[in-house]
Amino acid sequence: MTKAYSYACRDCEGMEACPASVTAETRDEIWQLMGHHARIAHGENPEDWDQETRDYLGTLIRETDV
Ligand SMILES: [Zn+2]
Repeated sequence: MTKAYSYACRDCEGMEACPASVTAETRDEIWQLMGHHARIAHGENPEDWDQETRDYLGTLIRETDV
């Protein structure tokens, strides 16, 4: 088993209908994938996320075993 990180978009407030989730080896990669997803699926610019948003999203990243 390898330790990994995952993020499910539906865990985010207001995104309950979104089926997307990402899993990666590092938190850094998760942030990249989250940003990529937000841009493609939700038309958001991750560079506009303020510290509060980043802190909140950070709490949604889970440690998992794959
Ligand atoms: Zn989403």
